[in-house]
Amino acid sequence: MTQVIQNILQKQNLSKKDIVRLLHTDETERKLLFERAAKVKEEYVGKKVFYRGLVEYSNLCGKNCLYCGIRAGNKKAHRYEVTEEEVLEAARYAWENKFGSVVLQAGERSGKDYVRRIERLVREIKKMSQGELGITLSLGEQSEETYRRWFEAGAHRYLLRIEVSNPELYHRYHPQNKTHDYQARLQSLYLLRKVGYQVGTGVMIGLPFQTTEDLADDLLFMKEHDIDMVGMGPYIEHEDTPMYQYRDQLMPRMDRFYLSLKMVAILRIMMKDINIAATTAMQAIDPMGREKSIKVGANIIMPNLTPSRYREDYLLYEDKPCTDEDAEECKRCLEARIHMAGGEIGYGEWGDSKHFSRRKKS
Ligand code: SAM
Ligand code: SF4
Repeated sequence: MTQVIQNILQKQNLSKKDIVRLLHTDETERKLLFERAAKVKEEYVGKKVFYRGLVEYSNLCGKNCLYCGIRAGNKKAHRYEVTEEEVLEAARYAWENKFGSVVLQAGERSGKDYVRRIERLVREIKKMSQGELGITLSLGEQSEETYRRWFEAGAHRYLLRIEVSNPELYHRYHPQNKTHDYQARLQSLYLLRKVGYQVGTGVMIGLPFQTTEDLADDLLFMKEHDIDMVGMGPYIEHEDTPMYQYRDQLMPRMDRFYLSLKMVAILRIMMKDINIAATTAMQAIDPMGREKSIKVGANIIMPNLTPSRYREDYLLYEDKPCTDEDAEECKRCLEARIHMAGGEIGYGEWGDSKHFSRRKKS
């Protein structure tokens, strides 16, 4: 059957049927897929892996996504917000260690004070790093005005996963109300593009009730929406969430892991010059998960710079890795791992999505 896979991999455009077939590749066949993705990556984005220092700014969240460990309804979560000084300290560490960028990620919140606080933080990070650090935000759905204010303060990339592109499934994983509306999330992706951000999205892989057809549609969604960056990884259950009740219906974690690797590889073949992150959830299943992602197409890694004392509390899912490491340990171990995966680190570079630059020029 390897000839069938070879034939699919030669195609200019992959159909839904082709993608589904690639997602079903067995151990021998998937090697061909991974080799092809590695070649495409080398040709279109090169060997460089770019760092985005991740600050998990706060686990306070107004929403109740049914899968997430820091959902508002989880009363067991111990809530925190990193102080302004600590954020700036983490950003300084990133800058001094020549990470090109930082990412501020948190639960979803709104309110004037909050919007202003983020705006100030973005400006301060820019000022402290003399404009050198790139800033990515991942702070959920916001109004156009808020997106614009943060953009004008200096953030230039935004990550907002669609989570699942099938609206029916989206509604199964979220409460049925206005704050968890598929169309609103989609609209946010349009607003981000309109304001001028490099737009990132992504999905969770191996959710209960999700089929390989759904996953193929997710990849086609990213292509159709001409996304600049993608972060996707396995869904991992969390005991204190409503979705935990379906844990018996999940495929084994290692299968979720390989399915996620295939998703990364197929996406690299479909969208050759975008940025793709090697996500932490990959590492939660396989200690070498991020390195394996890099080998098959990912080119972005997000070392965790959240001050250690908060890390245990940003527990989106079980077995989240690196919750007990400080930034220095994290950096050293990552460097060695990236070299092992055949990558080079793009120190001091923003590592913007080539796809975005190309679209802007055309
Ligand atoms: N609150 C913002 C939002 O939802 O866009 C950003 C932070 S949120 C914690 C970041 C991502 O974590 C979500 O987009 C979701 O895909 C992921 N996530 C949440 N729970 C997860 C789980 N149980 N397994 C894997 N990923 C999960
Ligand atoms: Fe909040 Fe984001 Fe978790 Fe949803 S995924 S509960 S918005 S932190």
